[in-house]
Amino acid sequence: MKRRKFLKKSGLTTAGLLSAPAVVASCKTETKQEIASPPVSVRKPIAICTWNFMNATAKAWEVLEKGGNALDAVEQGVMIEEADVTNETVGVGGRPDRDGNVTLDACIMDKDGNCGSVVYLQNIAHPVSVARKVMEETPHIILAGKGAEQFAYEQGFKKEDLLTESTRKQYEEWKKESKYETVINIENHDTIGMLAIDKNGDIAGACTTSGMAYKVAGRVGDSPIIGAGLYVDNEVGGATATGVGEEVIRTVGSFLIVELMRQGKSPQEACEEGVKRIMKKNEGRKDFQIGFLAINKQGETGGYCVHPGFTYREYTEEGHENRHVSSFYQNE
Ligand code: ASP
Repeated sequence: MKRRKFLKKSGLTTAGLLSAPAVVASCKTETKQEIASPPVSVRKPIAICTWNFMNATAKAWEVLEKGGNALDAVEQGVMIEEADVTNETVGVGGRPDRDGNVTLDACIMDKDGNCGSVVYLQNIAHPVSVARKVMEETPHIILAGKGAEQFAYEQGFKKEDLLTESTRKQYEEWKKESKYETVINIENHDTIGMLAIDKNGDIAGACTTSGMAYKVAGRVGDSPIIGAGLYVDNEVGGATATGVGEEVIRTVGSFLIVELMRQGKSPQEACEEGVKRIMKKNEGRKDFQIGFLAINKQGETGGYCVHPGFTYREYTEEGHENRHVSSFYQNE
């Protein structure tokens, strides 16, 4: 008998069923209710990010502690690195492409699956905030290059020179030795990907980078690609990536990790599986770095990477000292 028909016949409505403890109490469900497992405690609020960007998680924590939402926390958190001229892999002071231009990629994603992204953006210090404007002020998800830059000015962002004295010098040196060749190695990149859960238990994420140093002009990595460099599903968790973007795009890495968590894997297990899928296609290669970072709805975290050296920083109620060094594929 169809459920609706049964309810009609028996004179019960769904609401009636739900609010009828006397009926339920006399049958077996009572025992079931008594032994129902206690609610899983959630570690929240919490902010985590790739690498050892402690000022970024500290900023995110400041937002979360005051009751701010996860979206504001991740945006303001990664903005710290975008503004830091000594960080030569993100925002102002990021290393340029092989033509000497700093081109930035960033994206952001909220609890409702809304997202925004900018790719190949020049002259703007905070690509993550432009990405958020794309999400909130346009019907689109990705804006690229000149269009993204024009949009940023319309939104009130200022034009800035992103090349610093230090990155200019390094670029001049690179030009002398490189023969204008873009080489993948494990040193010339380090994205900040950040994930946070706020007091309401909602998750958001952001990812921002200047990409691979001395890349071919026009190259876009995984970091601004929803599903590759970042993915959030508020029912399950979130994931973000750092390392050679081409490999992360190929496996739609962050989406894969969230889906693996949906199927029951812990954040740690999911990150390990993500890295292993990439390594399966790159047997024996030692020239690149891939790191994944993930958080689930309970606030459990995990990180895994191809090479030693990958860390991630967690900021929780216990403080910001809880820096995790993730385990490595090569050491297995
Ligand atoms: N994933 C970034 C990119 O490929 C770089 C990095 O994180 O190291 O552009």
